[in-house]
Amino acid sequence: MFMQKTQVLKISLFAILSAFAVEMTFGLIFNSLGLITDSVHALLDSVVTLVLLLAAKWAIKPPDAEHTYGHGKIESLGGLFGGIAILLIAAFFIYEAITRLYSPEPEILPGVLAITAGIYTIGVDVFRIVLLAKSIKKIGGTTLKADFYHAMMDLGSTIVAIVGILLVTTGFYQGDFIAALVLGILLVVLSLKLIYRTAMDLTDIISPGLVAKVRDITQNTEGVLGVGPILMRKSGDTIFL
Ligand SMILES: [Zn+2]
Repeated sequence: MFMQKTQVLKISLFAILSAFAVEMTFGLIFNSLGLITDSVHALLDSVVTLVLLLAAKWAIKPPDAEHTYGHGKIESLGGLFGGIAILLIAAFFIYEAITRLYSPEPEILPGVLAITAGIYTIGVDVFRIVLLAKSIKKIGGTTLKADFYHAMMDLGSTIVAIVGILLVTTGFYQGDFIAALVLGILLVVLSLKLIYRTAMDLTDIISPGLVAKVRDITQNTEGVLGVGPILMRKSGDTIFL
């Protein structure tokens, strides 16, 4: 089971990183802000996948004298730093998109060739969607399902970048900047979500429903006279109680 999960993560990481490289290169060569912004989105997804992969490996590392709860929080810490970095980059792209919208028409405009990078990324997204759909059937789990919906959204955002370039080819050169603006805002939302989730993890958030369940089970156990405060915390995939 463990091998299978890291295998899926490794393949995804490689695929997403290749999409990042292709989109960034084409975006720079053909001067498409939309493509570059979408490539940064791929970079965010790579960071998240890499952190999950490292966390899965670190999780094998047993608790030691200095980390008696194990090393699961490293996953949250890595995600937090990654989220902050991408948030700053996304803010820069929004600023850049707005600036270019009010600037004169640039000399180099992205054309049909730039779209091939978008088509490659769509291929990567479809590959990930199929891979995740297969893994969900075999392994199941809410994490994989969330990944599945995220991959669908990635497909949508790449389509936005392509539509932006298509608009440029029909003479509306601002199309690429509007696409970049839309993708930049999406990236801000995604990175804020990641920052919020990992910050909550680091401050030991736990579902009150889960605590209530534990209290219920303990109270209804024969021989138990009373139940005091129940302390729970999550570290990586493990819940301590
Ligand atoms: Zn994504």
